[in-house]
Amino acid sequence: MPLKIIIDDKAGPCGGVKRVIRLTEQNLAAGYKTVSLGAVIHNEVEISRLRDLGMAEVDHSVLDKGGNGGEPQRVVIRAHGEAPEVFERAKERGLNVVDGTCPVVTRSQRYAQKYHEQGYQVVVVGKPKHAEVIGILGYCDNEAKVVHEEADVAELEPDRPTYVLAQTTISDEMWNSMLAAIQDRVSDVTSRNTICAFVADRENELRTFARSCDAIIFVGGKNSSNTHVMYDVCQSVNPRSYWIETAKEVEASWLDGIESVGISGSASTPQWLLEVVGEALARRFTERVAAAT
Ligand code: SF4
Repeated sequence: MPLKIIIDDKAGPCGGVKRVIRLTEQNLAAGYKTVSLGAVIHNEVEISRLRDLGMAEVDHSVLDKGGNGGEPQRVVIRAHGEAPEVFERAKERGLNVVDGTCPVVTRSQRYAQKYHEQGYQVVVVGKPKHAEVIGILGYCDNEAKVVHEEADVAELEPDRPTYVLAQTTISDEMWNSMLAAIQDRVSDVTSRNTICAFVADRENELRTFARSCDAIIFVGGKNSSNTHVMYDVCQSVNPRSYWIETAKEVEASWLDGIESVGISGSASTPQWLLEVVGEALARRFTERVAAAT
């Protein structure tokens, strides 16, 4: 029985990831010594391709005099964004900043800043150490609260007008459950679901795709929030879901007893990588058939 390999035609990077990659490539092509402040996206394979084009990665010490990275000509801010203080320090250092902040994240930063300035208790539902969340806190003088699990809700001031927003890549399920817990504790809550529409739409499309195949190979960075959420979506409807970062991790035993395998990826997984994984799967399947005959 031949194996049907289906690449999810709705997969591929989101607009924010495409944009920051394009900005990085443009600066490299123009011959600038270009560095990204932190991992430019959560996908090692794509980062490695950009490294081959000349991109380097630096940490925040580049903002200090004598910090790492020497004297880059361009510093790329990733799609997650940064706190305003980072832009100010870069300016003081005379660094040329290429702002790759995703416009969807910029919108969340603006909402958080506006309500913080009006005296609200600002609450971000998401991961406290996620770069996007850290950036948003910077727009609230680092006074906003982060809710990641129900226990965090007990830290909120119950009698203060409160504005709640979401890290763009959390699941709808997490948003709904945390918002309900916050509403139970705090009397005056204004909320805005700032989950990225791309992520929300992808969840539904992916659920349908994962149901339609016997097994799913999900491709994405192990440190990517969006990949975690999307992989969980696959697993919830198809227990034969496997998460890989590179084509090398494909295992022939995953193909046992199945007629179709779907390949999909997260918001930071390039489409070309899905094609490479598809080719690796086809090779594994051919080797397996040859070994069995
Ligand atoms: S997932 Fe959404 S918010 Fe995040 S970078 Fe992509 S488009 Fe922007």
